[in-house]
Amino acid sequence: MPELPEVETTRRGISPHIEGKTISNVVIRNHRLRWPIREDLPQLLQDQPITNISRRAKYLMLETPEGTLILHLGMSGSLRVVQNGDKPGKHDHLDLVCSDGTTLRLHDPRRFGAAVWTDEPCGQHSLLEHLGPEPLSDEFNGDRLTQCAKGKSRAVKLLIMDNQVVVGVGNIYANEALFMAGIRPDRPAGKISARRYARLADCIKIVLANAIEKGGTTLKDFVGGDGKPGYFQIELTVYGHGGEPCPKCEKPLTEIKLGQRTTVFCKSCQR
Ligand SMILES: [Zn+2]
Repeated sequence: MPELPEVETTRRGISPHIEGKTISNVVIRNHRLRWPIREDLPQLLQDQPITNISRRAKYLMLETPEGTLILHLGMSGSLRVVQNGDKPGKHDHLDLVCSDGTTLRLHDPRRFGAAVWTDEPCGQHSLLEHLGPEPLSDEFNGDRLTQCAKGKSRAVKLLIMDNQVVVGVGNIYANEALFMAGIRPDRPAGKISARRYARLADCIKIVLANAIEKGGTTLKDFVGGDGKPGYFQIELTVYGHGGEPCPKCEKPLTEIKLGQRTTVFCKSCQR
């Protein structure tokens, strides 16, 4: 599933090719994404310049003077820059064609992605308005976690994966950040000190920033018609390594389910 680093990498990969260009045609091959693509999207986007491509959580926003197209990549979506006329594949559901022929193509085999138009300021859109701060912003820090955790008995891992607390901390990154911070994922959120939350906030930032940096090496993969998304694999220290030796103490890593998600940690290094 594309996580925040992949979505940010996508933004960086496509922006130089699309930003500032004018949409001359929109081709919808399949309306049935997570929500149906509106029938009049081609009319709404016709002749609109793309003034900016921004990201909030895992949403990408293609801004135009008349409104914003909000894209989400769902479970399996990807965006590529192709040329108008490049043959679409089976799961290439949406093309935004610019006046010079440059085309942004949405590929999504499982169709959990979305392409939603809004003419409101997009921060007020129902998809975005209740989201917590961006993990790499100054608004997200140990104090924010300490406040959100106050009196909460739920597991700290579920707290940091809650989009209203902080956006974009998916399962893999939550596991990795908690290992780096030395905090047990199932520890009740309200029982962790402010000092440890400051460390956890830093670790979340480090893990996500490293992944985004790694994604930088794949930016060229967003251009061209071969259909492979330019996603990347970060080196994972605990996730996917249940039962294997802990990289710090070499005792076997424990794997449990927490909120139905695979959770891996070291019983001796994480407390
Ligand atoms: Zn250990």
